[in-house]
Amino acid sequence: MIFYSTNKSSVPASLKKATLEGLAPDGGLYVPSEIPAFSPGELELLQNAPFTDVAFAIAKKFTGDEIPHDRLYAIIEECYTFDTPLHKLDGKTFVEELFHGPTLAFKDYGARFLARMTGYFAEEDQKLITILVATSGDTGSAVAYGFQGIANTRVVLLYPSGKVSRLQEQQLTTAGGNVTALEVNGDFDDCQRMVKQAFMDQDTRRRLTLTSANSINISRLIPQTFYYAWAALKLSKEHSGRKVVFSVPSGNYGNLTAGVLAMKMGFPISHFIAAANANDSVTRYLDEGRYEPRPTIRTLSTAMDVGNPSNFARLQHIYHYNALEMAHDISGYSTPDSETLETIREVYDHYDYIMDPHTAVGYHSLEAWRRTHRTDDPSVVLSTAHPAKFIESIQDALGIEIPIPGRLQSVLDKQKSTTPIDASYRDLATFLETL
Ligand SMILES: *Cc1c(COP(=O)(O)O)cnc(C)c1O
Repeated sequence: MIFYSTNKSSVPASLKKATLEGLAPDGGLYVPSEIPAFSPGELELLQNAPFTDVAFAIAKKFTGDEIPHDRLYAIIEECYTFDTPLHKLDGKTFVEELFHGPTLAFKDYGARFLARMTGYFAEEDQKLITILVATSGDTGSAVAYGFQGIANTRVVLLYPSGKVSRLQEQQLTTAGGNVTALEVNGDFDDCQRMVKQAFMDQDTRRRLTLTSANSINISRLIPQTFYYAWAALKLSKEHSGRKVVFSVPSGNYGNLTAGVLAMKMGFPISHFIAAANANDSVTRYLDEGRYEPRPTIRTLSTAMDVGNPSNFARLQHIYHYNALEMAHDISGYSTPDSETLETIREVYDHYDYIMDPHTAVGYHSLEAWRRTHRTDDPSVVLSTAHPAKFIESIQDALGIEIPIPGRLQSVLDKQKSTTPIDASYRDLATFLETL
């Protein structure tokens, strides 16, 4: 498969090139030259297939002959050693729990696949690849644990000292092995600036093969189509062939973009709800047809606090820069924090089920859409994080303490290991020289 940049001035890239580059040289995002289609026969064969088989069927259409099929299958088996449960709330409402991976958030699906693809391509070139990432929390932990122990790769994470939660810091600083956490005496913007400078420093780039692992990487997007496809096949079969509606808690809109790819590949999906918090740039675009990004607003669903979502460029490309075409498939809603807390309460009272604030935004948006769209299609809210990651919000909403899952507790018990540095590129360059 060939990939193009959304800015269209870069030369076409292989999956390997697109994965190792992340962003295209012209600053655009890589998109597949064509969206692979599944025939009705292929879909039928996958209807009862386990998650890994659905994932493999999709992945091989994107990898083509760049990776031998037995190796690709092994990679997928290594990535998805945890379950993807569909929790039933009522006859036609389900929560797809995407938080059973090592860092208890859905970013594990993308990061674990990206890590192994990077490792494969690095081995092919006999190179050691250095992944340099600035993080304010969740992406960094998924990357740290995703790349942990992957041969031919090492990760250097920069995070702002004292500006991430204790839980996030533990997740960033305890992976060990090939993962180093740099605790920067500055803020997130300093971390991002330092990483950008490293990418522009020719001396450093001559010595190290640098790549980034942020959410625009195409090898993080592809694996996010797997759980849409698998759930859509399963629920459609159980509901006499009806197509499935997905509500997607969104920040940078990578997750939603992957869903749209799954629908366009032919998996039985009828509609998407783009569920935003108060950061409503895309919600307004879907309603009014004008894209006017605004500064980021801080909310309870922090991982969705994005004023100018990076993957919006991909959505626009897929929908030919036509807001009406996009709005045909996607309805946007924006939920204020007060209603997020209220939703956590309502769902708990009604179904005895605890949702984290991100998932609650998804549920609230689905309910809003259903008030104006009567449908018997089965509907799925993607649950992007485990509620124990947001203990304070759950306590505010429900007044109860929730138990911390074993995996999280063991991370909390580990000894943090960091290298403190100042917020200057000189200090980062000096550190990189020691690698
Ligand atoms: C990253 C994240 C999101 C937003 O996903 P996008 O792909 O950026 O839209 C939602 N919820 C949680 C918990 C996240 O970590």
